[in-house]
Amino acid sequence: MDSSTNSSHYDVVIVGAGFAGLYMLHRLRSAGFKTRVFEQASDVGGTWYWNRYPGARCDVESMQYAYSFSSELEQEWEWTERYATQPEILRYVNHVADRFDLRHDIQFNTCVATAIFNETGSRWMIETSNGEHISATYCVMATGCLSSTNTPNFEGVESFSGSLYHTGEWPHQEIDFSGQRVGIIGTGSSAIQSIPLIAEQAKHLYVFQRTPHYTVPARNQPLQSDPKTQHPGRKAYGYDEDMTVEEIKADYLGLRQRALESFAALAFTPNRQSALEMTEMERQREFEKRWEQGGLTFQGVFSDFSISREANEFAAEFVRRKIQQTVKDSVVAKALVPTYTIGCKRLAVDTGYYETYNRPNVTLVDVSKSPIERITSAGVYAQGREYPLNSLIMATGFDAMTGTLLKIDIQGRGGLRLREKWVEGPKSYLGLCLAGFPNLFTITGPGSPSVLTNMLMSIEQHVDWIVDCVEYLRDRNIAEIEPTLEAENEWVTHNNEVASDHIRNSCSSWYVGGNIEGKPRVFMPYVGGFPNYVEKCRNIAAKGYEGFVLGEG
Ligand code: NAP
Repeated sequence: MDSSTNSSHYDVVIVGAGFAGLYMLHRLRSAGFKTRVFEQASDVGGTWYWNRYPGARCDVESMQYAYSFSSELEQEWEWTERYATQPEILRYVNHVADRFDLRHDIQFNTCVATAIFNETGSRWMIETSNGEHISATYCVMATGCLSSTNTPNFEGVESFSGSLYHTGEWPHQEIDFSGQRVGIIGTGSSAIQSIPLIAEQAKHLYVFQRTPHYTVPARNQPLQSDPKTQHPGRKAYGYDEDMTVEEIKADYLGLRQRALESFAALAFTPNRQSALEMTEMERQREFEKRWEQGGLTFQGVFSDFSISREANEFAAEFVRRKIQQTVKDSVVAKALVPTYTIGCKRLAVDTGYYETYNRPNVTLVDVSKSPIERITSAGVYAQGREYPLNSLIMATGFDAMTGTLLKIDIQGRGGLRLREKWVEGPKSYLGLCLAGFPNLFTITGPGSPSVLTNMLMSIEQHVDWIVDCVEYLRDRNIAEIEPTLEAENEWVTHNNEVASDHIRNSCSSWYVGGNIEGKPRVFMPYVGGFPNYVEKCRNIAAKGYEGFVLGEG
């Protein structure tokens, strides 16, 4: 490529050094592209760098939430628990950065502020928050799907005199809530993981709940045998019930292949029967089995969990009954029971969440009918009274999928701003490329399966596709690639069609932008399944990048 003469010109600039950015850098560098990564944090890890709240851990099993591109890495890394904690995942990411010698091409503490496509030179002109100017032939946004936190605009929040936290931007030092009155706003996955642990520490915990969330037990356990307790550890792994770590490692490729063939890029065995074909006894047996097994595999309880409301209601009722059986105070239990479809907000995975509401030092404040009125200097004012607090935690989620991309001033052909293009919601071709924005790629962008899958598999599939694409262009001396508006519109229409009757699209959630005031309501991830999507991407490339214009620039 033409990079040798100008030190601030790169073949590729990557924005973000999380799982996506690191693998992208590794692949591009191995393919001989001069590459630079910009990362706003002071170290690698992306979402796992920022989300350090108590109890933060992945809800996908660690043996699957790990890169597959290096079999040596797969074999040498030892996960200690069925679901890895945030510190363990961060150790893994750091290990990958060191093992593949990635750090020296990453510039930390640097935000990309603007990226403007220069049509004359077919290159992206990039300005960082430090005022640096760089150019690149290609720009890859590896900015993550849940990386811009959402803090609702509560009146008086700036006047709060206690300590204020957000789960998605947690301090690096340990926070001790002992002896404190703590409030937490929100009951999504982040809150569901942190509430049981904070409750064990705090003098009193007040949970401000607007909408109850469905959660299923994680059944976390060590993956390594404990010689002292003789805990079998590595058995009962979860996704494929009887597999041990050793068995998985003996045929890791087999596990990955099963993941590639599954709807959510996760290797587990879903029940192929419809709930409507099963007897009540069969359904209950299957529910109990999966409830005991733990984790997201609960959604595989029958084949029509996500497509038939009637089937979905069986599963919803089962979980509602479990909540009522677990929570002793019937008023609290009633408030915790969701009434909407299960799985339309991302199913959470917990350890002792519902049991926590039986503790005398935990109070559920139901703000579903009358919202939090304001934050005062002393605490939260809701339900006509003030809840005095020492610490207040916002577990209020993210401006998902589009928030971080829209923070960057991205301008394509003719000065078209991404903010203008997406004013009615995100539009892209495959969640990978954008009409009007040549040589720009988004990893796991809106319009791709991303957050509905095991992210690691989705990230690797995107990175591999992008590397194949830029190699194809380099080999043929092609300066620009850009999807046609027609191909993009067709993909957007297809996305909307598959999402229209889907359970995931049946309530307000961050999948549809429902958590952000003023955000257009569009179902953002592609819900047509990972295998269909991969096949589509493969065919497009095989046909010489069908739906794209490849040009001289
Ligand atoms: P979230 O699911 O968006 O939950 C945000 C919570 O804040 C909701 O309960 C929401 O209530 C509440 N909220 C927002 N604005 C409010 C307001 N003005 N007043 C009262 N309540 C308000 O966010 P999250 O828990 O951070 O999770 C986001 C996603 O991150 C998850 O779905 C998951 O994909 C990922 N995540 C994964 C893990 C894991 O791997 N284990 C852990 C954490 C997060 P409403 O429902 O009424 O809007």
